[in-house]
Amino acid sequence: MTTNHTHLVHGGREDLRELGVHALPVDLSTTYPLAGLEAGTASLDALVEGQGSAENPVYARLFNPTVQRFEKSLARAEAAESAVAFSSGMAALTACILALRERGNHIVAVRPVYGTSDHLLDSGLLGNEVSWVSATEVADAVRPETALIMIETPANPTLKLIDIEAVVRQAGDVPVLVDSTFATPILQQPLRHGAALVLHSATKFLGGHGDVIGGVVACSEAMAASLRRVRVATGALLHPWAAYLLHRSMPTLKLRVERAQFVAGELARRLAADPRVGKVHWPGLSGFPGAELLGRQMLGPGSVLAFELPGGHASAARLIETVRLMTPAVSLGSIDTLIQHPAALTHRVMNECERTSCGISPGLIRLSVGLEEPEDLWADLDQALEACSPASRAA
Ligand SMILES: *Cc1c(COP(=O)(O)O)cnc(C)c1O
Repeated sequence: MTTNHTHLVHGGREDLRELGVHALPVDLSTTYPLAGLEAGTASLDALVEGQGSAENPVYARLFNPTVQRFEKSLARAEAAESAVAFSSGMAALTACILALRERGNHIVAVRPVYGTSDHLLDSGLLGNEVSWVSATEVADAVRPETALIMIETPANPTLKLIDIEAVVRQAGDVPVLVDSTFATPILQQPLRHGAALVLHSATKFLGGHGDVIGGVVACSEAMAASLRRVRVATGALLHPWAAYLLHRSMPTLKLRVERAQFVAGELARRLAADPRVGKVHWPGLSGFPGAELLGRQMLGPGSVLAFELPGGHASAARLIETVRLMTPAVSLGSIDTLIQHPAALTHRVMNECERTSCGISPGLIRLSVGLEEPEDLWADLDQALEACSPASRAA
């Protein structure tokens, strides 16, 4: 049902033996010597039309072998025909929107999504119109000119879960894009549930070490060809060094995701039992809405959680200033624990009213749990909660 360790270790490395190397080669060429003018023209045409490879790469905006190896690895992990990598998660989302423009300019989307994704869709920057609906209202919102349905599950930052199959049933022939960044291919493979496109901010779990920005979309080969045409034209390439770092992280993805999920569970249960804390958002807690999707759609709840502080913004600010072991920083999916305040940071670009109504309150804290010992993280959180609880501030 899910991607296995062997695929993660060997995916995208099929040509290494033939090349006579063991580690992933990094090809930094921006241009390539041509065997002859006609052959060069034929390769250029093939790549500009969106083919995945050609006899000659011609120019690095058209093709790069280091990037292609990472794409093969990710495609295998998602059980997809193809994958196309971009310079960031946002570049990947932009390419999806542009690639589908010929179908129409209307998008149906379900909140919450990552703050900048919300902003990109809502601003109409790419000439699109968006209808924000709930996951059960998708069918009613679809129009003849609807090009794309976009959902994010689990959603950033509230961990809201959406039944992918239920959305796909409402979509008719409109492609459904799932931002699966929080789940990774270890916990969820949306294509198996009928999604047409799976998007990852590779910056997060895929990279996993906080040192690379990238984005990737897994999909059919036909869809991949459209995405490559956009990538060739707009130049939102993943750099070969970034592709190398991402690919190098793939073999440990499952280990990292499973370990972080275990640690997150330890913290989530303690937070849920703590009187200093309000509601805790983590799909592994009993009674979490949509938890029935665990097992059917997701193998596990993952390692990002959120919780509410009764003291609101002031308490949240104090908590973030008081942690010592955890890093107060945006982003997620790294080997170490990151803590941040969505309303003031990652989701600040959203309209305030929309933000509050989709559950991103002034007291909401998001925690991306890393690989540390749960006891050490809890000790840090415990002292910070003590410092920001109203009783201690009054004292
Ligand atoms: C970070 C993030 C993005 C954007 O990715 P970048 O790599 O920062 O461009 C998109 N979706 C989700 C869920 C994210 O967490």
